[in-house]
Amino acid sequence: METILVLTHVDEGGSALTKASLEAVTAGVELAKQHTAKLTIGLLGFASVEAANSAAGAVAATGARLLAVSGEAFAQPRYATDAAGCEALCRAAQASIVLAPGSSRFVRVAAGVAHRLGGFIDTHITSLSSNDSVDATRWFYRQRVEAVVSRDARPWFLLLDAGTHAAYAGAAGAASVETIAVDLPATRTTVEGLRSPMRGAQTIRPDARLLFVAGAGWTKKQPDGQIHVSEAGELILAFLRLSGASLGSSKSLADQKAEGEQSVLPFLTHMNQIGQTGSTPRHAKGLSTCCHGEEPHVVGWRFIGERRAISLDANCGWTRGKADVVYVADAFQVMARVNALLEARSA
Ligand SMILES: Cc1cc2nc3c(=O)[nH]c(=O)nc-3n(C[C@H](O)[C@H](O)[C@H](O)COP(=O)(O)OP(=O)(O)OC[C@H]3O[C@@H](n4cnc5c(N)ncnc54)[C@H](O)[C@@H]3O)c2cc1C
Repeated sequence: METILVLTHVDEGGSALTKASLEAVTAGVELAKQHTAKLTIGLLGFASVEAANSAAGAVAATGARLLAVSGEAFAQPRYATDAAGCEALCRAAQASIVLAPGSSRFVRVAAGVAHRLGGFIDTHITSLSSNDSVDATRWFYRQRVEAVVSRDARPWFLLLDAGTHAAYAGAAGAASVETIAVDLPATRTTVEGLRSPMRGAQTIRPDARLLFVAGAGWTKKQPDGQIHVSEAGELILAFLRLSGASLGSSKSLADQKAEGEQSVLPFLTHMNQIGQTGSTPRHAKGLSTCCHGEEPHVVGWRFIGERRAISLDANCGWTRGKADVVYVADAFQVMARVNALLEARSA
């Protein structure tokens, strides 16, 4: 019989579990139900036992055994302490299946922890199902081939992609957390703070409902024969501020900055690029603006629920079956109007 451990960690605020952690809890609860297996939830990263106890209330309704590794040494992500903490949680739970969110914090240590336990790891898991065994699904070749993986090796670590499960939302309750002692390893790394890779506002928001994509058209000559890059930047940033959307980019737009040939949108980097050589984010909705919708770009939209596009070109790729709704219109005008409406609503 399987014993399932869900590894979770604290969010940046230091007092609650991350949304991706709660998604992993949902996956663990479902899998445990299918296998009538014992479920344990491990909490990592809380500065004190009290903080871990209070955060654990959010998952108390699962009825799972709750384990925590806490203390100042674990309050900051760091390989040595995170790996030691996760290892201690896995050993205490005696888990055969370990589920964890594919967050930067756990991606960094999970393979090392699996190795310490003589286990095996698979990453980018999008769904789990069971027959007699546990089957894990993931995509290969830029999301073009979907595979179902099962393994005999145990413990089997599975890192789940964010956005693939609903965040656990059981009634909050009083939690009884067992504290797991860890022999602290020698540490060479002191965490001094966080530095964002973005200049200015953080524009990549994986948890946003909407993906807003900017294409190269924003920097092209407009019907008046002029380019309006600073106006484009203001419109895009205002929309992100008002809507809370995440910002994506086409390759053509992101490349312009890299080549430094003309003044382009300074808040965009290749981190924003969506597509075959970019990312494939998950959002409920997507709005493409000033982008042609070519296949190498649109392949990055695979996991966007509802797709809309604004393009001047009535023959663009979006109109050829790649979007649910296409507005053949000037994005400068449309977004100025949308921003005004959002501004009025928020006033
Ligand atoms: C191997 C390979 C990998 C690639 N990987 C990627 C990738 O990962 N991601 C990616 O994006 N691309 C990728 N590409 C490039 C891709 O093929 C396209 O060249 C790119 O997506 C085009 O970007 P764009 O649509 O923003 O620019 P353009 O093709 O220049 O289109 C700009 C659009 O803006 C419209 N427009 C202009 N002004 C306005 C306005 N005022 N209002 C509304 N619309 C307006 C124009 O009508 C036009 O349709 C790849 C290509 C190759 C060969």
